[in-house]
Amino acid sequence: MPTYESDVCIIGGGLCSAMLAEKLSDLRPGLAITVVEAGSSLFDFGNRLKYRQRVLDYGESAWPGDVLEDQAGAEGFCLTMAVGGQALRWGSAANRFSEEDLRLKSMYGLAVDWPLSWAEMEKAYCEAERRLNVCGEPSPFPGDKRSEPYPQPPMPLSYNLQTLRTWAEKSGIPFTIKPQAKNHVSPTPDLDHPGGGCRMGTDPATSVCDSYGRTHDHENLFVVGAPTTPTPGCTNGALAFVALTLRSADRIAAEFARHT
Ligand SMILES: Cc1cc2nc3c(=O)[nH]c(=O)nc-3n(C[C@H](O)[C@H](O)[C@H](O)COP(=O)(O)OP(=O)(O)OC[C@H]3O[C@@H](n4cnc5c(N)ncnc54)[C@H](O)[C@@H]3O)c2cc1C
Repeated sequence: MPTYESDVCIIGGGLCSAMLAEKLSDLRPGLAITVVEAGSSLFDFGNRLKYRQRVLDYGESAWPGDVLEDQAGAEGFCLTMAVGGQALRWGSAANRFSEEDLRLKSMYGLAVDWPLSWAEMEKAYCEAERRLNVCGEPSPFPGDKRSEPYPQPPMPLSYNLQTLRTWAEKSGIPFTIKPQAKNHVSPTPDLDHPGGGCRMGTDPATSVCDSYGRTHDHENLFVVGAPTTPTPGCTNGALAFVALTLRSADRIAAEFARHT
């Protein structure tokens, strides 16, 4: 069995793993990082455009082999494990969870509050949006206030959406273009945004890790991204998961500074 000497070992090769590895390399160049992915690599860049065309022509998957054909539910599909994780299929919607989402306990007496301030989360969102090159427009909703503009202007609206926008605005209904991390034609409308499982918190009796993902009972073990969210948000979560991951990268890199 081959042996890989590493400073950091990341289990799972999805979006958050990629962002963690990239940022740790930026912060600590020369760090030996190993990513362990249980699934196979489906990337075939040489034929990428051919597969894109088959998505448009036949509604096939852009990454052949990324679903378990005989495991699909009635109206869905079952992803296999592979490098890229769920991001192989994601729709690129890069919405933020709102400040309210982080304060369910203090605002509504529900579940728990997240163990980090909105200011910290907002800063991490801005970085996640920069790294994912999110496009979007200023939102008319006060809850969407942001400290930095989107890195890219919004996606152009189709004719139908332009018409819808005109009607909505005539009726006094605020309309805003969905922030997105890339151009995308989704082969199916199905979405999936699992989170939680190793939730963050300050009390080891009710949480697995702190707000940086460091596990309470093992100082060298970090859980990053989606599993750490204590409650779900009002929208798609990948941007929040990446933002949390980038905060974890800051903390992990700082640990290397402390020990070297
Ligand atoms: C069809 C679809 C559309 C989506 N659209 C959007 C969207 O528009 N906007 C949005 O915000 N979110 C969207 N999502 C959700 C988004 O893609 C995920 O939240 C995000 O990609 C999660 O990234 P992750 O790195 O945290 O986890 P994952 O992508 O789940 O990556 C985890 C990786 O770990 C591997 N792994 C698991 N266990 C092990 C193990 N024991 N050892 C080694 N490897 C292991 C898995 O194979 C996987 O590659 C969508 C999801 C789906 C399925």
